[in-house]
Amino acid sequence: MKIAFIGLGNMGGGMAANLAKAGHEVRAFDLSEEAFARAVEAGCSRAASAAEAVTGAEAVVTMLPAGKHVASVYEADVFPHAADGTLLLDCSTIDVATSRSNIEAAAPVSGGIAAANAGTLTFMVGGTDEGFARAEPILAKMGKAVIHAGDAGAGQAAKICNNMLLGASMVATCETLALAQKLGLDPQKFFDIASVSSGQCWSLTSYAPLPGVGPTTPADNDYKGGFAAALMLKDLRLAMEAAASVDADVPMGSKARELYEAFVEADKDGRDFSAIIKTLQG
Ligand code: NAD
Repeated sequence: MKIAFIGLGNMGGGMAANLAKAGHEVRAFDLSEEAFARAVEAGCSRAASAAEAVTGAEAVVTMLPAGKHVASVYEADVFPHAADGTLLLDCSTIDVATSRSNIEAAAPVSGGIAAANAGTLTFMVGGTDEGFARAEPILAKMGKAVIHAGDAGAGQAAKICNNMLLGASMVATCETLALAQKLGLDPQKFFDIASVSSGQCWSLTSYAPLPGVGPTTPADNDYKGGFAAALMLKDLRLAMEAAASVDADVPMGSKARELYEAFVEADKDGRDFSAIIKTLQG
């Protein structure tokens, strides 16, 4: 298939490479030269503009920072240049409202940069049955799981609900480990106990936020790499916006947003979201 891929950053670069590896003709575009170079090396061809990438494409995939970038690329380049029947597929994490109004199939992802490179992302897709049926084979080349969440906007709703749960559970994991240490428990012993007890959760068992405890995680690399706290804050803000729009009470999500806001403002190193344990250790 001829696929236009716009946004070749940390996530999009690996995703576009996997589509090229699967034999698709990927016409890539990004504003950054560095992002271009990686995509071209991975077998994508370089388009001179987003409009050129979209012209003649059978599918358009976007992986951009936020809703405003997606809306402007769609208005300026995608809608005016895409032929009728082109599959429009946005994979960025954006607000539910933009996703509902703009895009045929929105498929935000769970899994970080390593999963994007390895082709093991989870896609949660919002769109019609027909849109999903057309999108699924393309997404399957970039992920390990492709799930139809519901109509337009449902993929974004699932994504921010998942990440609100993740943000709140990471804060709970960090404050618990900090308390366990202050109570004199050996952190590895507590990890061994809680990982097979009712406190078990992904933030603890798969992403332990202390160096030397549990599997290798960003904590073992001075909290570099992984999922930046600023991105977690972005997702928590989107979750709060969505909660307000339906008058939902989300006290834990709201507290997590408050804590990540303070952390991101103070942290100058762009560390992983599990580094919030530093604040909670006092
Ligand atoms: P990134 O900043 O690394 O990449 C975004 C790319 O978009 C950049 O290369 C930038 O140059 C390009 N871009 C911006 N405006 C553009 C335009 N008008 N035209 C063409 N290119 C443009 O971001 P990322 O980490 O790849 O994240 C992309 C999306 O995926 C975000 O919505 C993010 O929230 C989401 N996400 C990220 C992760 C993660 O771990 N990084 C995980 C899940 C979801």
